[in-house]
Amino acid sequence: MTGLRFVLKAMIACIALAMVVPGKRTISVIASTPPQAAKRIALSFDDVPRGRGAFLTPDERTARLVETFRSRHVPQPVFFLNPNRIVHFGDGIDAPKRIAAYVAAGGVLGNHTNTHLKLSKVAAEAFLADIDRAQAYLKTQGKAYRPWLRFPYLDEGGPDKAKRDAVRAGLAARGMMNGYATIDGSDWNMEGQAIAARKAGKTVDMEALRDLYVETHVQSADFGDDLARRALGRSPAHVLLLHETDMAGLFLGDLIDALRQDGWEIIGADEAYADPIHRERPDVAWTAGTMIEQLAWEKKLAKPRWYERNDVKIANALFAERVLHEKVGAGK
Ligand SMILES: [Zn+2]
Repeated sequence: MTGLRFVLKAMIACIALAMVVPGKRTISVIASTPPQAAKRIALSFDDVPRGRGAFLTPDERTARLVETFRSRHVPQPVFFLNPNRIVHFGDGIDAPKRIAAYVAAGGVLGNHTNTHLKLSKVAAEAFLADIDRAQAYLKTQGKAYRPWLRFPYLDEGGPDKAKRDAVRAGLAARGMMNGYATIDGSDWNMEGQAIAARKAGKTVDMEALRDLYVETHVQSADFGDDLARRALGRSPAHVLLLHETDMAGLFLGDLIDALRQDGWEIIGADEAYADPIHRERPDVAWTAGTMIEQLAWEKKLAKPRWYERNDVKIANALFAERVLHEKVGAGK
């Protein structure tokens, strides 16, 4: 590089630095090589209060999650509740205290239906009535309440467009919106695999489990962001789908560290759901999955349009091989 070019480059760098707005993302007017905008992601937790996992009591799990939110300075995670679980299950009895702990840690609360209904299996009216029953509890939660519905199983009616549209209209009539996810790593399945392994008396390699959990979700996030950039021409504010699991209680801090290392900024749920994609109503033949998967399908992007480890066969083979150190395929 010549001296002059070096000076010019240095001047450009200074101009770029001068455009950094405190607390905001970098703004640059240099068109030739625009810096990659920060990848932004909010954390969401479904099925709250969730049943017991393989390693922790529900109270231990909540204490660990709350400590992680504090130590990692996580702004405003969102918890999607099934209020029916609060009183009707053994581990749910103390759930109001655990939910209050999440709120005290800065969390907000959304609706995951009262009884975790699968929309493809029930009528729109029954589904909306179950939302209303959950609302009755959520509306007692003051400022923590958000009018967002996270569809159980991310099932928005499957192939039934009339049902899909009836529920979309029902949400709008209630002043609610789809509390969609944009990134999914099927953490619920890894939790299930760990529970099954412990029940079977198998040895679980905890370091390997942590590594698999972290790697899977960082990969899924990057896959989802790449798909989003192809579908939208930009990186939206993402929402990561997690569940209130022991995996999260044990490894969420490691996952947050790894995401930040990978260039992600953890944002609050309000910021994520202010992204213009909240106005999207994808029209696809089978309405289910993340918002980004649906938009990618609607825009007929080339496959793969979903992250491969959301195929439980692939995920379970990895779990057996890496966490249980089993020879995959042997004897099957
Ligand atoms: Zn769920």
